[in-house]
Amino acid sequence: MNFDFSAEQQQFAQQVRRFARDHLAEGALKRAHAPGFPFDVAALMAKHGLMGISLPESEGGQGGTLMDAVIAIMEVAAACPRSADVVQFGNFGPIRTFAEYGTPEQKARWLGELLAGRIVMGLGMTEPDAGSAVTDLKTSARADGAHYVIDGRKVFATFSPDAHVFLIYVRFGPGLGGIGSVLIERDRPGFSIGAPQAFMSGEEWSELHFADCRIPAANVLLGPGGFKKQMAGFNVERLGNTARSLALGRYAFNAARDHALKREQFGRPLCEFQGLQWKFADMAIKLDGAELLLFRAAANADRGLPSAYETAVAKAACNQAGFEVANETVQIMGALGYSRETLVEYCMRRTRGWMIAGGSIEMLKNRIAEHVFDRRFDQRKQPSTAAE
Ligand SMILES: Cc1cc2nc3c(=O)[nH]c(=O)nc-3n(C[C@H](O)[C@H](O)[C@H](O)COP(=O)(O)OP(=O)(O)OC[C@H]3O[C@@H](n4cnc5c(N)ncnc54)[C@H](O)[C@@H]3O)c2cc1C
Repeated sequence: MNFDFSAEQQQFAQQVRRFARDHLAEGALKRAHAPGFPFDVAALMAKHGLMGISLPESEGGQGGTLMDAVIAIMEVAAACPRSADVVQFGNFGPIRTFAEYGTPEQKARWLGELLAGRIVMGLGMTEPDAGSAVTDLKTSARADGAHYVIDGRKVFATFSPDAHVFLIYVRFGPGLGGIGSVLIERDRPGFSIGAPQAFMSGEEWSELHFADCRIPAANVLLGPGGFKKQMAGFNVERLGNTARSLALGRYAFNAARDHALKREQFGRPLCEFQGLQWKFADMAIKLDGAELLLFRAAANADRGLPSAYETAVAKAACNQAGFEVANETVQIMGALGYSRETLVEYCMRRTRGWMIAGGSIEMLKNRIAEHVFDRRFDQRKQPSTAAE
């Protein structure tokens, strides 16, 4: 077993670090507080080969591995936490499910534009009555000749105020087997997008409404029975969320370490107080442990899709480590850490959201427990027996 990056991975990490330092470090604070999708950063990343890292070159990608994409998120976030969202979008988000399962015609239409950073794709999975219980989704796709008619509502979709096209989970029929997904353009008649609303992180989302929205059958991504494949693709998205949690925790850790070396109180630098030293030791243990779990999930997936169990373990560990560390760094940096003049409070707010998004920590733990006991625990309320 070898815990070091290969020579190629080290070289790639250095390249991305240099790129991020030269192009992204400046303006990192401003970018973190701007709600819109940073299209300028996306175009720059496309130019420097940071979009579609793990997609085949024949599809306009870079032919690298999922681990390379994880390295890119971590190196970019170390210079500009907000820009890591662009690496997420270009490598881990709905784009990856789309690239995996899209038809040649669908890809010809959108993949090139997405990889060039000119357009962004939103993911509409969650509904007002279907959050963790995502299979309760009601948004329907009814066949009508060569078309489908979409009706329903989606909430909380990241990038929705800016997205050009959306990957929408729909119900073609009853039960799990009735779930699939479609691609819907922003300007399609019958599709309306509500006013932007803000998360605690400052990111914005809009409600998506579909009323008699007719789409051609060519816009179906995965028909009935596609749910399992969608979730397999979604595990990649989860790893991007996992990597950002860890990377923003590390960003905050490094900022607090630099601060503790310089800032003096009682005539001594903060790092000389044991009460703070132990906080740093605890944070290092959390970050290093979570990082190994992330690397295991990504490295084992290589160019394929990651395992559901390893992804769940890695995401729960990195979500917790990232938030707990960022939260502690706010304490260590005092009023400065709590101020919007530094990015540690931003890292705390962002990492908090990833404990909910993309599979909450509790839902991941349910999944992990199923692996531990090798049996399925149905979360649904069971019908009461006649004797009751
Ligand atoms: C930052 C952010 C970005 C997001 N981006 C998107 C996006 O791009 N597209 C999209 O479709 N959605 C997105 N979401 C929505 C996200 O997928 C949902 O928030 C998530 O699935 C949880 O659903 P919910 O918020 O309705 O919470 P609920 O499902 O109502 O859960 C509430 C609480 O109960 C817990 N809980 C629920 N069921 C169980 C159970 N069986 N066992 C134990 N605990 C349980 C949950 O863990 C949670 O703590 C985003 C959310 C956030 C915060």
